[in-house]
Amino acid sequence: MKPRIALIAHDRKKDDIVKLAGEYAATLSQCALLATGTTGARIAAAHGLEVECMLSGPHGGDLQIGAQLAEGRVDRVIFLRDPMTPQPHEPDINALVRACDVHNVACATNISTARMILDVLALRLAQAA
Ligand code: PGA
Repeated sequence: MKPRIALIAHDRKKDDIVKLAGEYAATLSQCALLATGTTGARIAAAHGLEVECMLSGPHGGDLQIGAQLAEGRVDRVIFLRDPMTPQPHEPDINALVRACDVHNVACATNISTARMILDVLALRLAQAA
């Protein structure tokens, strides 16, 4: 089964996640992608990747991803948070990151860690091919 990867980025990090998705498009195209609404739409439009879009983050998208994760339906999370800007849905953000810790799901909250997760994923997919 394809790895299921959740992609989320706060507004000031959206350009970064779109760029990252472009760099790793070959890997991500072998995965099932889900994302918060705006992030997912931007990635799909920029790279033609198929992305299952949840609600926008401030409207509950992080919680929807967290719920799927709690049910074992998310394998990795790339969540580029903006540490410099207060977010109206801070409790939802914390809930999602907490759910990753509860269920031991790898969660990258910055680009360096995201690259590590995606590099390992690329290697595993290549080995499995
Ligand atoms: P968005 O949500 O992708 O819909 O902007 C991200 C977030 O703010 O959590």
